[in-house]
Amino acid sequence: YVKEYVVSGSILSNIFVETLDQAIDSVVVIDSQNLILLYNQAAEKLWGYSKEDVIGKNVKILVPNEIKPNHDALINKNRDTGVNKIVGTSREVPIICKDGSQKWGAMSISKVYSDGKILYTAFIKDVTQAVLNRKRLELLSLVTDQTDNAIIIVDGSWNTAYINQGFTSLFGYNESEVLGISPISVIAPHLTIKYADMLRLRHKNGEAVKIDEMLQTQKGDRLWCSIMSNPIFNEQQELTHVVIILSEITKTKLHEVLHQRVLGAIAHDEPLECIMESVCHEVSLLSDDVAPAIMKLDDENNLQLLAAPKLPSFLRKILNKLQVAEGISASGTAVYRDKAVLCPDIQSDPLWVNYKEEMLPLGYTGSLSVPIKGSEGSPIGAITFYYKYQKTPSNLHQDLVNVLDPLCALAIEREKQRENIRKLAYYDALTTLPNRSLLHVNAEHLLQEANKNKTKLAFLFLDVDRFKQVNDSFGHPVGDQYLIRLAERLLTAQHTTSVIGRLSGDEFVVVTPYTKIEELNVFVDELRLKISSPLTIQDNKLMPSMSIGISIFPDDGHDVATLIHRADMAMYQAKSSGKGRFSYFSHELNQLAQELQMLEVELRKAIKNDDLELYYQPQVSMQDGSISGVEVLSRWNHPELGAIPPSKFIPIAEDCGLIGDLSQWALHNACKQMSLWKAKGIIVPTISVNLSPINFHNVDLCEQVMNELQSFNLAPSDLILELTESVLLDTNPSTMKVLLDIHQKGIHFSMDDFGTGYSSLSYLQKIPIKELKLDRSFVQHLESDSTSRALSQAVLQIGESLNIKVVAEGIEKNEQYQILKEQGYHIAQGYLFSKPLNSVDIEIWLQQLLIKNTPLKVNESYVISE
Ligand code: C2E
Ligand code: CA
Ligand code: CA
Repeated sequence: YVKEYVVSGSILSNIFVETLDQAIDSVVVIDSQNLILLYNQAAEKLWGYSKEDVIGKNVKILVPNEIKPNHDALINKNRDTGVNKIVGTSREVPIICKDGSQKWGAMSISKVYSDGKILYTAFIKDVTQAVLNRKRLELLSLVTDQTDNAIIIVDGSWNTAYINQGFTSLFGYNESEVLGISPISVIAPHLTIKYADMLRLRHKNGEAVKIDEMLQTQKGDRLWCSIMSNPIFNEQQELTHVVIILSEITKTKLHEVLHQRVLGAIAHDEPLECIMESVCHEVSLLSDDVAPAIMKLDDENNLQLLAAPKLPSFLRKILNKLQVAEGISASGTAVYRDKAVLCPDIQSDPLWVNYKEEMLPLGYTGSLSVPIKGSEGSPIGAITFYYKYQKTPSNLHQDLVNVLDPLCALAIEREKQRENIRKLAYYDALTTLPNRSLLHVNAEHLLQEANKNKTKLAFLFLDVDRFKQVNDSFGHPVGDQYLIRLAERLLTAQHTTSVIGRLSGDEFVVVTPYTKIEELNVFVDELRLKISSPLTIQDNKLMPSMSIGISIFPDDGHDVATLIHRADMAMYQAKSSGKGRFSYFSHELNQLAQELQMLEVELRKAIKNDDLELYYQPQVSMQDGSISGVEVLSRWNHPELGAIPPSKFIPIAEDCGLIGDLSQWALHNACKQMSLWKAKGIIVPTISVNLSPINFHNVDLCEQVMNELQSFNLAPSDLILELTESVLLDTNPSTMKVLLDIHQKGIHFSMDDFGTGYSSLSYLQKIPIKELKLDRSFVQHLESDSTSRALSQAVLQIGESLNIKVVAEGIEKNEQYQILKEQGYHIAQGYLFSKPLNSVDIEIWLQQLLIKNTPLKVNESYVISE
């Protein structure tokens, strides 16, 4: 609008003209004919026209060319209507100078009445610089608005002076909502004042700052942004602006943060639940309005809740076991379909009928469930987001799920692997019961409890009766099944407070606390009852029974190993009195236990002090009576206890871990003796050394044997190693390897006591046997018992069919010898020829054999008394 003034006096008083001429802004006064009356110095400077150029001329001369033709009409119309469309109050107008250059003016016009005439006074401020600056900024904005990055420019007092389009699209705020206030208070209200101060300080020092920070949108979503903040100084080195460029890195940061969190936790062996809890926490940090839940598929194919920290505990309980099935729950359906399931409205969604009453009051209105894919491609769990407010998941949620899925899969599978390793290490693979190690640990816990509470503990050692028979007559698969079923029965019979484990083969242990002996008796009775009901496995009817030995803490011992050992002894006693019996560890057993312990100490000493001795029993050829080899047998003559037979000390050595040393000792001395004989020219074709099955657990056995042979300059063919069929029952993984290693070196194996054990022919092909030794028990009754004869014949035939030498041992009588010879046996051993002899006597015996000049006549006695 045109302002109106009334100026008194002449048209333009001198003072008035003088004043206007000196004004800083340009002044142009025109009359109603649009002729210029006044044109001041500032105007001269602005347009470049001099006073002479313009005074008295139409004001058109000062107007840009394109407006010139219509200018009069425009002004007139304006004057008529009183509305000035070209030059409003302080309107910005283009100024075309005399030299053609362009400037910008901010113009206002006043209407002045002077002497009844109307004059118009225009005030024009030179705003060229400001307009150019602004135009440049506008152009710049065109550029900055093109980028996805958000740009903020703050002034020296950290108030927002400018934001670009990117800022609005990223954070949701438009200019009017943020201009003039600190951007930190808008997008980072969670950051402390200290933090902002730190930034300012660094800027004041001229530093540009680059940081990653979590920021907040208008809707409340969190974004990770990489922030590049550059301070701008004027010539006086005052901070005038800070240009802040924000690029969203949520996705990358998500990956980084979650990967770090999960992989770090896995590396530190954190429990799966804890890992998932912290993952959920991270999700909640990014997205306030979402409650995440992570579930894994358990062994029964149900979804088991791992973490959902934002849900109340009553709801976590409800969600803890979800069935994997169509239509029962959102998560269960997602896993069932193996596809993401989105429920935008819990209120009306059919998948939510069962749970919406619990969910809706908490404010959750929607859900997104995604199956977690395992490495084999099938689902192993689910991630579910429960939403507030929202109808569909945001991009952030989608990203979150995409990042979480493989990470959760990794963590779950890793946990499974660990579980498997744990199972392998601590659980028996066949029955899934705790193995010996875990049993010991669990029993130790019980023992400490009992010790603290001054209660009693019963250690029950259970051994399956006739298990070998089941195995032999129905085969191993049935035997395995038998053990599994018995283990199940033990599990159902035990109390919640007891622990159970499988020691080995057919041996189980149950440890149970009790206060009164009657309680224990009831427990044992129930256990036996449970065990003994008939079983059918693969159409085979079985009548199970177990022999049970019981030892009591603290009466019978104070540590787990002793108590199990004593229960084992009691079990032996139970077994010897019949099948399915039980027996308590007793005073007599205790004495026996102590005696065994004493013997163990003595045996240890004897081996160390070389107090054992080797005896040698000759083996003769049945064809010509010549010597075919000697068997080495260990003897222990204790200074006080007298002669202790190997049948007593070998099992002790096996039980207490001395058998390795003992066999090593026997091998060493046997080889030494053999080399002595060679040196003396005494011919002994082979020397046989007995080994225990336990020796084959030793992976260094082959090397040890070879070392002995080499150190005495012997050939592998000089040595025969005798083993028993129980080697084959041994489940120790090294046994087979060690056997084959030794065989490879050219050392022969002899199968001792053949016919008493499991006598399955298949193993004779499995392991490299070169000799069978018919057990003494068959030889014993040969002359009186036709079954024995049939058996010895059968063993011979087995040997011949497999091209294996057969030795008959324990021959005491000439009749036995004759029968065996007729049957075609190759080699004979027994008291008939000689008892085992010490190294001096065996040499004499061997000399005599030579003197007697083979072939051997059997009616002559070769026996030299021991
Ligand atoms: P084995 O390997 O079956 O040894 C044969 C056993 O029968 C020896 O008993 C021997 O003295 C005895 N014997 C030999 N001929 C006759 C006979 O005509 N009549 C009778 N009644 N018995 C005869 P020994 O020496 O008491 O050894 C018992 C078992 O102890 C051996 O049975 C063997 O299994 C084990 N043994 C002995 N020495 C060692 C050893 O150094 N290491 C290992 N691991 N076991 C050994
Ligand atoms: Ca033997
Ligand atoms: Ca034997």
